[in-house]
Amino acid sequence: MIAKVIIDLALDKEFDYLIPAELEKEVKVGTMVTVPFGKSFREGYVLNLAETASFTGKIKPLSGICHTRAHIPENLITLGKWMAEYYCATQEQSIRTLLPAAVRSGRVKPKTRKVYFPADTEAAQAYVECNSPKASAALRVDLVKLLLKEGKLSAAELKEKLPAFSQSGLNTLIRNKIISTADEVVRRDVFGDSKVLPTKPMPPTSDQKKALDTIADMLHGKTSSHVLLLQGVTNSGKTEVYLQAIAKALELGKSSIVLVPEISLTPQTVRRFRARFGDDLSVLHSRLTDGERFDEWNRINNGEVKIAVGARSALFAPFRDLGLIIVDEEHESSYKQSEAPRYNARDVAVMRGKLENANVILGTATPCAESLQNAISGKFLHVRMKDQVDHKLPPHIHIYDKRMDAPPEPGKNNLFSPMLVNAVLDRMRRGEQSILFLNRRGYARSMQCEQCGEIVYCPDCSIPYTYSKQQEILTCHLCGSIIQAPTVCPACGSDKVRYSGAGTEKIEAMANAVFYPARVGRMDSDTMRCAEDYEAVLDKFRRGELDILIGTQMIAKGLHFPNVTLVGIINADQGLAMQDFRAAERTFQLITQVIGRAGRGDIRGEVILQTRLPENDTLLFAANQDVDGFAESELAMRKLFKYPPFTHLIVLHFRGEDELTVQQYAQEIADRLKPYLHEEIKMTGPSPAPISRIKAKYRYMLVIQGNKLKVMRQAIRILTLHRTPPAGVELYADVDAQALL
Ligand code: ADP
Ligand code: ZN
Ligand code: ZN
Repeated sequence: MIAKVIIDLALDKEFDYLIPAELEKEVKVGTMVTVPFGKSFREGYVLNLAETASFTGKIKPLSGICHTRAHIPENLITLGKWMAEYYCATQEQSIRTLLPAAVRSGRVKPKTRKVYFPADTEAAQAYVECNSPKASAALRVDLVKLLLKEGKLSAAELKEKLPAFSQSGLNTLIRNKIISTADEVVRRDVFGDSKVLPTKPMPPTSDQKKALDTIADMLHGKTSSHVLLLQGVTNSGKTEVYLQAIAKALELGKSSIVLVPEISLTPQTVRRFRARFGDDLSVLHSRLTDGERFDEWNRINNGEVKIAVGARSALFAPFRDLGLIIVDEEHESSYKQSEAPRYNARDVAVMRGKLENANVILGTATPCAESLQNAISGKFLHVRMKDQVDHKLPPHIHIYDKRMDAPPEPGKNNLFSPMLVNAVLDRMRRGEQSILFLNRRGYARSMQCEQCGEIVYCPDCSIPYTYSKQQEILTCHLCGSIIQAPTVCPACGSDKVRYSGAGTEKIEAMANAVFYPARVGRMDSDTMRCAEDYEAVLDKFRRGELDILIGTQMIAKGLHFPNVTLVGIINADQGLAMQDFRAAERTFQLITQVIGRAGRGDIRGEVILQTRLPENDTLLFAANQDVDGFAESELAMRKLFKYPPFTHLIVLHFRGEDELTVQQYAQEIADRLKPYLHEEIKMTGPSPAPISRIKAKYRYMLVIQGNKLKVMRQAIRILTLHRTPPAGVELYADVDAQALL
């Protein structure tokens, strides 16, 4: 037999090795082996087994199996191969994604502790009987008695139970072979001492029952599709459906994976799963240490746990009896990985489900156009949950036309309309809380000269600098460069420089002034350096120690604060102006989520949406919470312009410091791809990307839009992976790109 082995070299190539007869039974797809390579030896994974070699030279035998290292389950290898093909990535990049670095590297070892136990029960009992009368042996007799009773204990535990404990007494017993010692593998405990009160499944609402019945049918293979789009408004009880669905899978002996966006992987979410399933679940988040990640992977791989909850990469949890993959907030763009392989976890989940006969639940309040279209065409099952569990009235939504405001006095800014100011003051008088939301994307404030209009740009990236008042600096959000904020215009020397737009920092300052003495908190990626910061602000808000919380996307998701009765959207138009075909969809989703933060308690919520585009369709659909209306109009637009979901999109990105070389190479690749175009595939470009320069590198792109892309995909794979671009030029493909930026 021949093993086709992949070695970590990013050559996108498999190498043939002969499997020695004595290893034939053991070497499988996914086994890690050592192979001779050139003059040295390397480790690699077996990707395929074959009767004959494709290599025509002399075939060397592989040297052995790495028994101490993790092997990849065969089903995941199949998934990895598909990812490499589909996302135009190398086999190595794809296989590497399947295993956490902590497991792959082989450097992390299991955590152990030394334990002591009777070497032989009879001998130990005899020792106790013989020595009990001797006063000098009292301690040793107690030690042996204790270990006979407890089985095995660590030194620390012995000491705790036996205050007179001495190591030398123990050592004597070991020397006399009465007591033995060994290293025992222990789990690095990710939950620590925190306890969670258990919960029981709640009697389902009629909507939930509909969903659960469908899921039961899916688990018994009685449905036409293995994917369910579970479209339910915030608070309709989706999470409770997930919990009960997992329980159903468990009853059938099947494992489940739950994917949530990293930002929603809060202690609040984890607590709900632990409360239902105890600590027999793996939580895979980005803050785990390498050791913890290693342990969790092994617990799953050994079948010790049957549930994994985590962000994107939890999709590759090495279960062998997968019943269910749940993708919560399936529309989230963070499911797309930004490095190769540039996969979308939602789509790969659907593929993994297909390969492993598992079912997939895509849950959301605002499905992405792709999933909706799949539901409409019947490729996915579709269950709607239209009511909140407690039948609460949705919040009152006011659209405030900012064009009605009087122009601000020079040097002043009217970020808060009179309507919003009054509403916040009202909440303060009543002891209720408010959230002020800023869609930060493209909304940082830049510096502009009033005299000559000069805007200060980052010299390396084609975007304006962002001004930070606290530190009097200008920073670039793309490359991170920082300069001292100039006090005079760099172009004309005028001292009339001003700052346009507004960031959360500015809004915080204004809120402090306008709503004095309100207690104001702020949450955005500038102030939140770590998970603890995030929790600290939220806790303060939860305890009622803040009246107003200001924030960006970060506060739009999943937070449940019953005392928040007002949400103000400072500028709903931001984001709509992005040159991107998903701009409307993103804005709609974001506003819907933000609206969901208001009125989670007993008092009906209110939302004030400030805009200069009060007739904009997307905003009106969002304000009316008309998910279907929006979906219909959005799908019609996508169809008209032949955008996904009606086509697939592959973007080739070119970048480099010398613009001409970048452009010429992009043209050369475009020419090479032309023969693969046909009536169902369109190619646009090469053209400069909307953000034409980042970190001093020019960016060009080539957009391929169409259906029946299989052959095109192969051509792109070869051109991007097996061909070296000119010096200083980088090229990569982004399949199913999220944005055209
Ligand atoms: P979603 O995930 O759709 O936002 P959740 O599952 O979090 O909704 O449910 C919203 C709230 O309603 C939660 O507090 C949850 O405990 C409660 N809940 C969910 N299902 C039921 C039910 N069948 N009976 C009573 N309360 C429920
Ligand atoms: Zn100027
Ligand atoms: Zn920059």
